[in-house]
Amino acid sequence: DIKPLVVGNWKMNGDRSMLDQLALTARGLDDDLSERVDVALCPPATLTYVTTTLVEDTNLLVGAQNCHAQEKGAHTGDISAEMIADCEAEFCIVGHSERRTEHGESDATIRAKVEACWRAELTAIVCIGETETQYDAGEAEAVLGRQLMESVPDGANENTTVIAYEPVWAIGTGKTPSPDDVANIHAFLRDRLVERFGGPGERMAILYGGSVKPDNAAELMSVVNVDGALVGGASLKAQDFLAICEVY
Ligand code: 13P
Repeated sequence: DIKPLVVGNWKMNGDRSMLDQLALTARGLDDDLSERVDVALCPPATLTYVTTTLVEDTNLLVGAQNCHAQEKGAHTGDISAEMIADCEAEFCIVGHSERRTEHGESDATIRAKVEACWRAELTAIVCIGETETQYDAGEAEAVLGRQLMESVPDGANENTTVIAYEPVWAIGTGKTPSPDDVANIHAFLRDRLVERFGGPGERMAILYGGSVKPDNAAELMSVVNVDGALVGGASLKAQDFLAICEVY
C-alpha cells in the first residue's frame, strides 16, 4: 500500500509574516494524522531554511519548488539541489507547468533536474500535465505518456520519485476533471510506470493537482490510483490545507 502524500506548493507567495500559517499547519499535524498521510510544504526558497528550523520537531516535511541541474557554478540566481538539501529540506518539485511555460523548461531539462535531486538525496516531485487545447483535442494521454517517459529518468523508484498529474487547465481555475477522468488518467499513468519500472512503478505515489480545495478533496482523493494531492492556493491557509490532509 502506498502511504498518501499531500504537498503544498506556495509558489511565489509567502514572506516571513506567513510563517505563522506554517507553524499552525505543523501544529495541526498530530501523530494520528501523520500516521495516515505524509504532509509536506514547499514555501519559496527564501523561506526554506527558516521553515525547516521552525518545523524541526513536528511532523511537517519541507520541500523546494525548483532546482538547477548542476551542483554549483556560474548560474546567477539559481539554486542547486545540494543547497536545498543543505537547508534540510527533503523534497523538490520539478517541472511544474509554470516552470515549463514561464522558463521554457523541456522534458530533458526536467530529467536533468530530477537526477540532481537524486544526487542530493531529495525526493523529486515530477509534474506532468496537458494543456486545455491538448485535452480538448483528445491528446492528454499522448502528452502525458511522453512527459512521463522523458522527464523521469531510468531507475526511478518510490523513495526517490513522486509523480504529480496537474492538468494545466485545472491549475488556479477552480475547474477540475471529473473523478472518472482522473481515474482514467491515473490508471494510464500507473500502467506506464509499471511497464517501465516494474515493482517500484507499482509503489510510486501519483498525486493529483489542480484546484484541490477542502470541498472537493475527499472525492478526488478517493479515486483509485490517486495517492495524494499537490495543492496550490489552498495550501496558503493552515485551516484549508489541514482540512485537505484530514480527508485521510
Ligand atoms: P491550485 O491548487 O492553486 O490550482 O494550484 C495547483 C498547483 O499548481 C500546485 O502545484
